[in-house]
Amino acid sequence: AVKEEFRQFEMEVGEIVEEMRSFTHEGSVATYIPELRHADPGTLGCALYTKNGTCVSFGDGEETFTLQSVSKVVALALAVMDSGEDQVFDKVGMEPTGGPFYSIARLALMNSSKPLNPMINAGALTVTSMIGGRTEAEKVERLLRFIRELTGNDALTYDSAVAASEFRTADYNRALAYLLKGEGVIDSDIGIEPLLDVYTKQCALSMSCCDLARIVFIFGHEGRSPETGEQIVPAPVARMVKTFMVTCGMYNESGELAIRAGIPAKSGVSGAILGSVPDGMGIGIYSPALNEKGNSRAGVELLKRLSRHFQLSIF
Ligand code: GLN
Repeated sequence: AVKEEFRQFEMEVGEIVEEMRSFTHEGSVATYIPELRHADPGTLGCALYTKNGTCVSFGDGEETFTLQSVSKVVALALAVMDSGEDQVFDKVGMEPTGGPFYSIARLALMNSSKPLNPMINAGALTVTSMIGGRTEAEKVERLLRFIRELTGNDALTYDSAVAASEFRTADYNRALAYLLKGEGVIDSDIGIEPLLDVYTKQCALSMSCCDLARIVFIFGHEGRSPETGEQIVPAPVARMVKTFMVTCGMYNESGELAIRAGIPAKSGVSGAILGSVPDGMGIGIYSPALNEKGNSRAGVELLKRLSRHFQLSIF
């Protein structure tokens, strides 16, 4: 009977995913990172990592893509594990901005150099500077080891074409990082070009929807490995990351998504979204056509629809 129920559930999700595909026409693929413009805007994939440790994927769920800003949740967990919560939040705030992810204006306008939260670029660059390792190569290794543990995928790496493409064109992030260093938020020992090298590789971590779904499954299960129960992320860190996903994960669409879906989620400009639901199921979505807030157009619709259909709101 359980099997039958699951088959029914799978069928319903599959139908919803196909229905949501029409929304892909209403968005457009990000082009400010030149390498991202090759994505096919009609793509919509989804994967669910369920309690019994299995992953089912739907639509174009087998496609691979880069994490982009979804990596901010991974980097935050790692920086807190490596540098400690006090150190991280001495430099980065905990409040939503209501502004776009690249916002520089807020930094200047708030009359405080401290980035408002770790999910906007200014905060994320600061967070990445606090990942453990003496050299940039060590920091990248540290990130790779962590992401391989989270996904259970030992072959996982970054897409070097996407990383190089962003590194070449990252003038906005460069400006932010130099400003933050000038303000003493980013440590004076940190070289900004090496930091951008780590940051762009972090954003270019490449994976499938199932990898994405497993990452968020772990955050939804107090940071434990689905197979061994081993603590990959300390439970309080996992909870903190999920809370940031609610308040800041979808930039200036976070409030609306909390109301309409109630699913802690984090998006990236590649069109990736991960979402965590109450029983701990992990949702990974990829659909590269974005809305005006920089979130996956069909992806957001899919989260809302799944939430309504299966009553997945945490509230
Ligand atoms: N790598 C991108 C950037 O820093 C990530 C932004 C995003 O996904 N919203 O611009």
